[in-house]
Amino acid sequence: MASDDFIKIRDEIPFTTPVQPVELGLDDEIRFHCHKGIACFNACCRNIDIQITPYDILRLKRRLGIDSSDFVARYTTPFAMDHHNMPGLKMNTKPGTSECVFLTEGGCSVYEDRPAACRYYALGSMGVRKKDSPEVEDIFFLVKEEHCLGHDEPRTLTVREYRMEQGCDEYDEKNRAWRDVVLKKRSGGPTVGAPTERSLQLFDMCSYDIDSFREFIQTEGFDDVFDLDASTIQELIDDEERLLQFAFRFLKQVLFGERTIPVKSDAKEKRLSRRRGLRARSKAGGNVGSGSDSPS
Ligand code: SF4
Ligand code: SF4
Repeated sequence: MASDDFIKIRDEIPFTTPVQPVELGLDDEIRFHCHKGIACFNACCRNIDIQITPYDILRLKRRLGIDSSDFVARYTTPFAMDHHNMPGLKMNTKPGTSECVFLTEGGCSVYEDRPAACRYYALGSMGVRKKDSPEVEDIFFLVKEEHCLGHDEPRTLTVREYRMEQGCDEYDEKNRAWRDVVLKKRSGGPTVGAPTERSLQLFDMCSYDIDSFREFIQTEGFDDVFDLDASTIQELIDDEERLLQFAFRFLKQVLFGERTIPVKSDAKEKRLSRRRGLRARSKAGGNVGSGSDSPS
């Protein structure tokens, strides 16, 4: 049975859409097979519109041996995810084309680390909160585009099997807490209204710039507020995947007040004294910043 949200969305889909208006569950079967020998091989990579997730960046920047800010600058284009300008990123295309930057003659040059959107295609997914349920539930649907011949191939498998084959589960798991933040930010919560510039900057760093976040947790401003011992900080510095999950916890704490990271009892006092010190030095003509490493 289709959820209320899906019915609403389905009814708004123009009749020319490639999205098939049938909600699929994990155990529903689809007919689809994408493989190297197929005539349309890579046709889908020649006309892309791919939103990049935090875990996509982590995998791709590691593969390319560059840092996260470098990856974002070279391979993505910013866009606003909602009317409050929540920052999103899309994968770049080659100049003058709509072809993915990572497409080569031989196919995808980053295949093992391709983004979640590439893994999912030709399956679509979205998180919906059903009536009277606090939980966000994943629903799936097929996207049938004319150029994609995978739908005519003689293979059926369940959505669950397809997701497993493509490695979608791992990506969803690693991005889940981030998706919660995005959904919550969109639907209001304690910070209803326009988010501050500062909260958008924090969202941007925690979502898309893990290398800057790693530096951030080593600043005096962070240490003034959060009560983490040296070995915990070191573990986060050494383990990027843990650091990413910590970044999402940090976001939930500063944006929604979901306190999971211990805060020092004298945090407020320290913060104020740091600000007073910075102001005093600024007045005295010292070349200092505005205390932008402070998490509040
Ligand atoms: S990352 Fe790879 S699979 Fe995804 S669109 Fe680019 S070339 Fe295609
Ligand atoms: S079958 Fe579909 S997904 Fe696979 S290469 Fe062809 S167009 Fe892309």
